Amino acid sequence: MKVLVLNCGSSTVKYKLFNMEEERVLASGLAERIGSPGSRIIHRPEGREEYILPKGLPGHHEAVEAILYIMTGPEYGVIKNAGEIEAVGHRVVHGGNYFSRSVVVNDKVLELLAECISLAPLHNPPNIIGIQACQKMMPDALQVAVFDTAFHQTMPESAFLYAVPYEMYEHHLVRKYGFHGISHQYVAGVSAGMLGVRLEDLRVITCHLGNGASLCAIRGGKSLDTTMGFTPLAGLIMGTRCGDIDPAIIQYMSEKGNMGLSEVMEVLNKKSGVLGISGISSDFRDVEKASQNGHHRSELALDMFSYSVSKAIASLIPAIGGLDALVFTAGIGENSPDIRRRICRRLEYMGIRLDEEKNLIRGEKIGISTPGSTVRVLVIPTDEERMIAGETWGMCTANPVS
Ligand code: AMP
Repeated sequence: MKVLVLNCGSSTVKYKLFNMEEERVLASGLAERIGSPGSRIIHRPEGREEYILPKGLPGHHEAVEAILYIMTGPEYGVIKNAGEIEAVGHRVVHGGNYFSRSVVVNDKVLELLAECISLAPLHNPPNIIGIQACQKMMPDALQVAVFDTAFHQTMPESAFLYAVPYEMYEHHLVRKYGFHGISHQYVAGVSAGMLGVRLEDLRVITCHLGNGASLCAIRGGKSLDTTMGFTPLAGLIMGTRCGDIDPAIIQYMSEKGNMGLSEVMEVLNKKSGVLGISGISSDFRDVEKASQNGHHRSELALDMFSYSVSKAIASLIPAIGGLDALVFTAGIGENSPDIRRRICRRLEYMGIRLDEEKNLIRGEKIGISTPGSTVRVLVIPTDEERMIAGETWGMCTANPVS
Protein backbone atom coordinates (compact mmCIF):
# COMPACT_ATOMS: atom_id res chain seq x y z
CA MET A 1 0.00 0.00 0.00
CA LYS A 2 1.32 3.45 -0.93
CA VAL A 3 0.81 6.44 1.32
CA LEU A 4 1.76 9.97 0.33
CA VAL A 5 2.63 12.41 3.11
CA LEU A 6 2.22 16.11 2.34
CA ASN A 7 3.36 19.02 4.44
CA CYS A 8 2.15 22.31 2.90
CA GLY A 9 3.90 25.35 4.38
CA SER A 10 3.36 28.98 3.45
CA SER A 11 5.66 28.79 0.39
CA THR A 12 6.67 25.13 0.29
CA VAL A 13 5.20 21.66 -0.13
CA LYS A 14 7.27 18.81 1.30
CA TYR A 15 6.35 15.28 0.29
CA LYS A 16 7.31 11.68 0.95
CA LEU A 17 5.85 8.60 -0.69
CA PHE A 18 5.92 5.43 1.40
CA ASN A 19 5.45 1.79 0.53
CA MET A 20 4.04 0.81 3.91
CA GLU A 21 4.33 -2.98 3.78
CA GLU A 22 7.94 -2.85 2.65
CA GLU A 23 8.76 0.12 4.95
CA ARG A 24 10.39 1.92 2.03
CA VAL A 25 10.46 5.56 1.06
CA LEU A 26 9.91 5.51 -2.71
CA ALA A 27 10.51 9.23 -3.20
CA SER A 28 10.72 12.43 -1.24
CA GLY A 29 11.12 16.05 -2.16
CA LEU A 30 10.19 19.65 -1.85
CA ALA A 31 8.41 22.26 -3.96
CA GLU A 32 9.80 25.60 -2.90
CA ARG A 33 9.38 29.34 -3.47
CA ILE A 34 5.73 28.78 -4.38
CA GLY A 35 4.23 32.04 -5.59
CA SER A 36 7.65 33.63 -6.16
CA PRO A 37 10.09 33.78 -9.07
CA GLY A 38 12.53 30.87 -9.14
CA SER A 39 10.06 28.28 -7.85
CA ARG A 40 11.20 24.70 -8.37
CA ILE A 41 10.82 21.10 -7.28
CA ILE A 42 13.63 19.09 -5.76
CA HIS A 43 12.76 15.41 -6.25
CA ARG A 44 14.62 12.49 -4.71
CA PRO A 45 13.57 9.11 -6.12
CA GLU A 46 14.73 6.09 -4.12
CA GLY A 47 18.20 4.91 -5.13
CA ARG A 48 18.62 7.54 -7.83
CA GLU A 49 20.15 11.01 -8.23
CA GLU A 50 18.32 14.05 -6.97
CA TYR A 51 16.46 15.84 -9.76
CA ILE A 52 15.71 19.57 -9.77
CA LEU A 53 12.87 20.81 -11.94
CA PRO A 54 12.59 24.60 -12.31
CA LYS A 55 8.87 25.24 -12.71
CA GLY A 56 6.51 28.19 -12.34
CA LEU A 57 4.36 27.37 -9.32
CA PRO A 58 1.83 30.18 -8.77
CA GLY A 59 0.10 28.35 -5.90
CA HIS A 60 -0.05 25.19 -3.78
CA HIS A 61 -2.58 23.55 -6.10
CA GLU A 62 -0.12 23.78 -9.01
CA ALA A 63 2.68 22.51 -6.74
CA VAL A 64 0.74 19.36 -5.80
CA GLU A 65 -0.12 18.85 -9.48
CA ALA A 66 3.55 19.14 -10.47
CA ILE A 67 4.65 16.77 -7.70
CA LEU A 68 2.19 14.12 -8.91
CA TYR A 69 3.37 14.69 -12.46
CA ILE A 70 7.02 14.03 -11.52
CA MET A 71 6.16 11.02 -9.37
CA THR A 72 4.27 9.37 -12.22
CA GLY A 73 6.46 10.55 -15.14
CA PRO A 74 8.49 8.19 -17.29
CA GLU A 75 11.89 9.64 -16.34
CA TYR A 76 11.85 10.29 -12.61
CA GLY A 77 8.62 8.59 -11.66
CA VAL A 78 8.31 5.94 -8.97
CA ILE A 79 4.69 4.90 -9.63
CA LYS A 80 2.69 4.41 -12.82
CA ASN A 81 -0.25 6.62 -11.93
CA ALA A 82 -1.71 8.57 -9.03
CA GLY A 83 -4.36 5.87 -8.58
CA GLU A 84 -1.68 3.72 -6.90
CA ILE A 85 -1.71 6.12 -3.94
CA GLU A 86 -4.32 4.74 -1.57
CA ALA A 87 -4.13 7.44 1.05
CA VAL A 88 -2.65 10.88 1.63
CA GLY A 89 -1.62 12.03 5.11
CA HIS A 90 -1.67 15.80 5.49
CA ARG A 91 0.22 17.56 8.21
CA VAL A 92 -2.16 20.16 9.60
CA VAL A 93 -0.77 22.69 12.03
CA HIS A 94 -3.87 23.71 13.97
CA GLY A 95 -6.84 21.59 14.93
CA GLY A 96 -8.03 24.05 17.61
CA ASN A 97 -10.23 22.49 20.27
CA TYR A 98 -11.86 20.24 17.71
CA PHE A 99 -9.37 17.50 17.02
CA SER A 100 -7.64 15.32 19.58
CA ARG A 101 -6.53 12.73 17.05
CA SER A 102 -6.03 12.25 13.32
CA VAL A 103 -9.20 12.23 11.20
CA VAL A 104 -10.38 11.18 7.76
CA VAL A 105 -11.19 14.41 5.91
CA ASN A 106 -14.79 15.05 4.92
CA ASP A 107 -16.77 18.26 4.32
CA LYS A 108 -17.41 18.78 8.03
CA VAL A 109 -13.69 18.39 8.83
CA LEU A 110 -12.80 20.93 6.13
CA GLU A 111 -15.33 23.34 7.65
CA LEU A 112 -13.76 22.98 11.10
CA LEU A 113 -10.25 23.41 9.67
CA ALA A 114 -11.41 26.64 8.08
CA GLU A 115 -12.71 27.76 11.48
CA CYS A 116 -9.20 27.24 12.87
CA ILE A 117 -7.69 29.66 10.34
CA SER A 118 -7.90 32.57 12.77
CA LEU A 119 -5.70 30.55 15.16
CA ALA A 120 -3.07 29.77 12.49
CA PRO A 121 -3.52 32.29 9.68
CA LEU A 122 -0.21 31.45 7.96
CA HIS A 123 -0.39 27.69 8.25
CA ASN A 124 -3.93 26.36 7.99
CA PRO A 125 -4.80 27.97 4.60
CA PRO A 126 -2.02 26.13 2.68
CA ASN A 127 -2.88 22.93 4.58
CA ILE A 128 -6.50 23.22 3.40
CA ILE A 129 -5.50 24.00 -0.20
CA GLY A 130 -3.22 20.93 -0.19
CA ILE A 131 -6.08 18.72 0.98
CA GLN A 132 -8.48 20.11 -1.63
CA ALA A 133 -5.91 19.68 -4.41
CA CYS A 134 -5.43 16.03 -3.46
CA GLN A 135 -9.19 15.44 -3.23
CA LYS A 136 -9.47 16.68 -6.79
CA MET A 137 -6.47 14.86 -8.21
CA MET A 138 -6.82 11.61 -6.24
CA PRO A 139 -10.58 11.27 -5.72
CA ASP A 140 -10.33 7.62 -4.67
CA ALA A 141 -7.61 8.11 -2.07
CA LEU A 142 -8.44 8.49 1.62
CA GLN A 143 -7.39 11.96 2.82
CA VAL A 144 -6.26 12.04 6.44
CA ALA A 145 -5.45 15.12 8.54
CA VAL A 146 -2.73 14.64 11.16
CA PHE A 147 -2.43 17.57 13.56
CA ASP A 148 0.48 19.26 15.28
CA THR A 149 -1.86 20.27 18.10
CA ALA A 150 -3.87 17.06 18.60
CA PHE A 151 -1.39 15.26 20.85
CA HIS A 152 -1.62 18.08 23.41
CA GLN A 153 -5.41 17.88 23.74
CA THR A 154 -4.88 15.63 26.77
CA MET A 155 -3.45 18.51 28.83
CA PRO A 156 -5.59 19.23 31.90
CA GLU A 157 -7.35 22.59 32.21
CA SER A 158 -4.89 23.67 34.90
CA ALA A 159 -2.10 23.35 32.32
CA PHE A 160 -3.78 24.76 29.23
CA LEU A 161 -5.66 27.76 30.64
CA TYR A 162 -4.10 31.19 30.95
CA ALA A 163 -4.93 33.33 33.96
CA VAL A 164 -6.91 35.82 31.91
CA PRO A 165 -10.69 36.26 32.27
CA TYR A 166 -12.29 32.83 31.74
CA GLU A 167 -14.64 34.34 29.15
CA MET A 168 -11.64 34.80 26.83
CA TYR A 169 -11.40 31.02 26.74
CA GLU A 170 -15.14 30.41 26.56
CA HIS A 171 -15.86 32.93 23.83
CA HIS A 172 -12.54 33.26 21.97
CA LEU A 173 -10.70 29.98 22.69
CA VAL A 174 -7.73 31.74 24.28
CA ARG A 175 -5.77 28.80 25.72
CA LYS A 176 -2.53 26.90 25.35
CA TYR A 177 -2.66 24.56 22.33
CA GLY A 178 0.94 23.42 21.98
CA PHE A 179 2.67 22.37 18.76
CA HIS A 180 5.23 19.83 17.44
CA GLY A 181 2.82 17.17 18.74
CA ILE A 182 3.60 14.74 15.92
CA SER A 183 7.30 14.85 16.77
CA HIS A 184 6.81 14.66 20.55
CA GLN A 185 4.49 11.68 20.19
CA TYR A 186 6.84 9.91 17.79
CA VAL A 187 10.01 10.21 19.88
CA ALA A 188 8.18 9.34 23.10
CA GLY A 189 7.03 6.10 21.47
CA VAL A 190 10.54 5.31 20.24
CA SER A 191 12.03 6.09 23.68
CA ALA A 192 9.84 3.49 25.38
CA GLY A 193 11.08 0.90 22.87
CA MET A 194 14.72 1.89 23.48
CA LEU A 195 14.30 1.69 27.23
CA GLY A 196 12.41 -1.60 27.06
CA VAL A 197 9.44 -0.27 29.04
CA ARG A 198 5.78 0.27 28.24
CA LEU A 199 4.94 3.83 27.20
CA GLU A 200 2.11 3.66 29.76
CA ASP A 201 4.73 3.35 32.52
CA LEU A 202 7.06 6.11 31.34
CA ARG A 203 7.47 9.71 32.53
CA VAL A 204 9.41 11.49 29.82
CA ILE A 205 10.19 15.04 28.75
CA THR A 206 10.79 15.31 25.02
CA CYS A 207 12.92 18.25 23.84
CA HIS A 208 12.21 19.18 20.20
CA LEU A 209 15.02 21.67 19.60
CA GLY A 210 15.08 23.00 16.04
CA ASN A 211 14.44 26.41 14.53
CA GLY A 212 11.21 26.19 16.46
CA ALA A 213 11.69 24.58 19.85
CA SER A 214 9.36 23.12 22.44
CA LEU A 215 9.30 20.64 25.29
CA CYS A 216 6.55 18.21 26.18
CA ALA A 217 5.89 16.48 29.50
CA ILE A 218 4.45 13.03 28.78
CA ARG A 219 3.14 10.45 31.23
CA GLY A 220 1.46 7.23 30.15
CA GLY A 221 1.90 8.28 26.52
CA LYS A 222 -0.17 11.44 27.06
CA SER A 223 0.92 15.05 26.81
CA LEU A 224 0.25 16.70 30.17
CA ASP A 225 1.99 20.00 29.50
CA THR A 226 4.11 21.68 26.87
CA THR A 227 6.05 24.91 26.50
CA MET A 228 4.51 26.39 23.36
CA GLY A 229 1.22 28.11 23.93
CA PHE A 230 -1.62 29.81 22.10
CA THR A 231 0.92 30.24 19.30
CA PRO A 232 4.39 28.80 18.57
CA LEU A 233 5.92 32.07 19.80
CA ALA A 234 5.68 31.04 23.45
CA GLY A 235 7.98 29.01 25.66
CA LEU A 236 11.66 28.47 24.96
CA ILE A 237 14.00 30.97 23.36
CA MET A 238 14.19 29.90 19.69
CA GLY A 239 16.17 30.66 16.52
CA THR A 240 14.32 33.90 15.81
CA ARG A 241 11.46 33.81 18.34
CA CYS A 242 11.62 35.40 21.77
CA GLY A 243 9.77 32.67 23.71
CA ASP A 244 8.18 33.68 27.02
CA ILE A 245 8.51 37.36 27.85
CA ASP A 246 6.66 39.81 30.07
CA PRO A 247 3.58 40.68 27.96
CA ALA A 248 3.87 44.33 29.04
CA ILE A 249 7.05 44.56 26.94
CA ILE A 250 4.89 44.54 23.80
CA GLN A 251 3.26 47.90 24.55
CA TYR A 252 6.55 49.34 25.78
CA MET A 253 8.44 48.26 22.64
CA SER A 254 5.67 49.66 20.49
CA GLU A 255 5.93 53.07 22.17
CA LYS A 256 9.72 53.26 22.45
CA GLY A 257 10.45 51.74 19.04
CA ASN A 258 7.67 53.68 17.34
CA MET A 259 6.22 50.49 15.92
CA GLY A 260 2.67 49.28 15.32
CA LEU A 261 1.48 46.10 17.03
CA SER A 262 2.04 43.93 13.98
CA GLU A 263 5.57 45.31 13.61
CA VAL A 264 6.35 44.42 17.22
CA MET A 265 4.98 40.92 16.66
CA GLU A 266 7.15 40.61 13.56
CA VAL A 267 10.23 41.55 15.62
CA LEU A 268 9.32 39.02 18.33
CA ASN A 269 8.75 36.27 15.74
CA LYS A 270 11.50 36.92 13.22
CA LYS A 271 14.25 39.07 14.74
CA SER A 272 14.49 37.90 18.32
CA GLY A 273 15.71 34.71 19.99
CA VAL A 274 19.23 33.51 19.26
CA LEU A 275 19.41 35.79 16.21
CA GLY A 276 18.37 38.85 18.21
CA ILE A 277 20.83 38.21 21.04
CA SER A 278 23.83 37.08 18.97
CA GLY A 279 23.28 39.57 16.14
CA ILE A 280 24.97 36.90 13.99
CA SER A 281 22.48 34.23 12.88
CA SER A 282 19.59 32.04 13.92
CA ASP A 283 21.53 28.98 12.74
CA PHE A 284 23.20 27.31 15.70
CA ARG A 285 26.15 26.18 13.58
CA ASP A 286 27.06 29.82 12.87
CA VAL A 287 26.47 30.91 16.43
CA GLU A 288 28.50 28.03 17.88
CA LYS A 289 31.39 28.89 15.56
CA ALA A 290 31.27 32.59 16.48
CA SER A 291 31.16 31.72 20.17
CA GLN A 292 34.24 29.50 19.78
CA ASN A 293 35.98 32.47 18.16
CA GLY A 294 35.28 34.56 21.25
CA HIS A 295 32.16 36.46 20.12
CA HIS A 296 30.57 37.39 23.44
CA ARG A 297 26.97 37.84 22.29
CA SER A 298 27.01 34.46 20.51
CA GLU A 299 28.19 32.78 23.69
CA LEU A 300 25.49 34.67 25.59
CA ALA A 301 22.82 33.51 23.10
CA LEU A 302 23.83 29.84 23.50
CA ASP A 303 23.92 30.22 27.26
CA MET A 304 20.49 31.88 27.34
CA PHE A 305 19.02 29.24 25.01
CA SER A 306 20.29 26.29 27.02
CA TYR A 307 19.33 27.97 30.31
CA SER A 308 15.79 28.46 29.02
CA VAL A 309 15.62 24.74 28.16
CA SER A 310 17.03 23.58 31.55
CA LYS A 311 14.62 25.85 33.41
CA ALA A 312 11.67 24.61 31.37
CA ILE A 313 12.61 20.95 31.93
CA ALA A 314 12.67 21.49 35.69
CA SER A 315 9.38 23.40 35.55
CA LEU A 316 7.61 20.56 33.72
CA ILE A 317 8.49 17.79 36.18
CA PRO A 318 5.51 18.50 38.48
CA ALA A 319 3.19 17.88 35.52
CA ILE A 320 4.29 14.22 35.37
CA GLY A 321 5.33 13.65 39.00
CA GLY A 322 8.98 12.75 38.36
CA LEU A 323 11.21 12.00 35.43
CA ASP A 324 12.44 8.71 33.97
CA ALA A 325 13.80 9.91 30.64
CA LEU A 326 14.81 13.01 28.75
CA VAL A 327 14.80 12.89 24.94
CA PHE A 328 16.60 15.26 22.58
CA THR A 329 15.40 15.58 19.00
CA ALA A 330 15.24 17.88 15.89
CA GLY A 331 18.14 19.78 14.27
CA ILE A 332 19.83 21.07 17.41
CA GLY A 333 18.73 18.29 19.78
CA GLU A 334 20.04 15.62 17.42
CA ASN A 335 23.22 17.36 16.30
CA SER A 336 24.62 19.64 18.97
CA PRO A 337 26.60 17.89 21.75
CA ASP A 338 27.48 21.33 23.09
CA ILE A 339 23.87 22.39 23.66
CA ARG A 340 22.95 18.99 25.17
CA ARG A 341 25.92 19.28 27.55
CA ARG A 342 24.99 22.82 28.58
CA ILE A 343 21.38 21.82 29.27
CA CYS A 344 22.24 18.70 31.24
CA ARG A 345 24.94 20.41 33.32
CA ARG A 346 22.31 22.63 34.87
CA LEU A 347 20.33 19.50 35.77
CA GLU A 348 23.19 17.69 37.52
CA TYR A 349 21.62 18.65 40.85
CA MET A 350 18.93 16.07 40.17
CA GLY A 351 21.44 13.35 39.33
CA ILE A 352 21.47 13.64 35.54
CA ARG A 353 24.88 12.59 34.21
CA LEU A 354 25.95 12.54 30.55
CA ASP A 355 28.43 10.09 29.09
CA GLU A 356 30.69 12.68 27.46
CA GLU A 357 31.84 10.34 24.71
CA LYS A 358 28.43 9.07 23.71
CA ASN A 359 27.18 12.64 23.74
CA LEU A 360 29.57 13.45 20.88
CA ILE A 361 27.62 11.22 18.49
CA ARG A 362 25.33 13.18 16.18
CA GLY A 363 22.07 12.37 14.47
CA GLU A 364 21.74 8.80 15.74
CA LYS A 365 19.35 6.97 18.01
CA ILE A 366 21.44 6.51 21.16
CA GLY A 367 21.42 6.68 24.95
CA ILE A 368 23.89 9.34 26.16
CA SER A 369 23.59 9.14 29.96
CA THR A 370 25.93 7.21 32.26
CA PRO A 371 24.69 4.00 33.92
CA GLY A 372 24.50 5.89 37.24
CA SER A 373 22.38 8.75 35.92
CA THR A 374 19.04 9.10 37.75
CA VAL A 375 17.35 9.97 34.45
CA ARG A 376 18.02 8.22 31.15
CA VAL A 377 19.01 10.72 28.45
CA LEU A 378 18.36 9.75 24.83
CA VAL A 379 18.92 11.23 21.39
CA ILE A 380 16.24 10.17 18.91
CA PRO A 381 16.06 11.56 15.36
CA THR A 382 12.51 12.68 14.79
CA ASP A 383 10.58 11.44 11.76
CA GLU A 384 7.33 13.34 11.49
CA GLU A 385 6.60 12.01 8.00
CA ARG A 386 6.87 8.41 9.15
CA MET A 387 4.57 9.20 12.05
CA ILE A 388 2.02 10.81 9.69
CA ALA A 389 2.28 7.85 7.29
CA GLY A 390 1.70 5.44 10.19
CA GLU A 391 -1.33 7.40 11.42
CA THR A 392 -2.71 7.50 7.87
CA TRP A 393 -2.20 3.80 7.36
CA GLY A 394 -3.97 3.16 10.67
CA MET A 395 -6.95 5.20 9.46
CA CYS A 396 -7.03 3.20 6.21
CA THR A 397 -7.25 -0.05 8.10
CA ALA A 398 -10.09 1.38 10.17
CA ASN A 399 -11.82 2.97 7.13
CA PRO A 400 -11.10 0.75 4.12
CA VAL A 401 -11.79 2.43 0.80
CA SER A 402 -14.12 0.17 -1.18
P1 AMP B 1 15.22 21.96 12.37
O1 AMP B 1 14.27 23.11 12.53
O2 AMP B 1 14.85 20.76 13.17
O3 AMP B 1 15.53 21.64 10.94
O4 AMP B 1 16.62 22.45 13.02
C1 AMP B 1 17.35 23.51 12.47
C2 AMP B 1 18.42 23.93 13.47
O5 AMP B 1 19.30 22.80 13.72
C3 AMP B 1 19.30 25.06 12.96
O6 AMP B 1 19.44 26.06 13.95
C4 AMP B 1 20.62 24.38 12.73
O7 AMP B 1 21.67 25.22 12.98
C5 AMP B 1 20.62 23.29 13.77
N1 AMP B 1 21.63 22.29 13.44
C6 AMP B 1 21.62 21.43 12.40
N2 AMP B 1 22.79 20.73 12.38
C7 AMP B 1 23.52 21.17 13.44
C8 AMP B 1 24.83 20.85 13.97
N3 AMP B 1 25.60 19.92 13.40
N4 AMP B 1 25.25 21.52 15.07
C9 AMP B 1 24.47 22.45 15.65
N5 AMP B 1 23.26 22.80 15.19
C10 AMP B 1 22.78 22.17 14.12
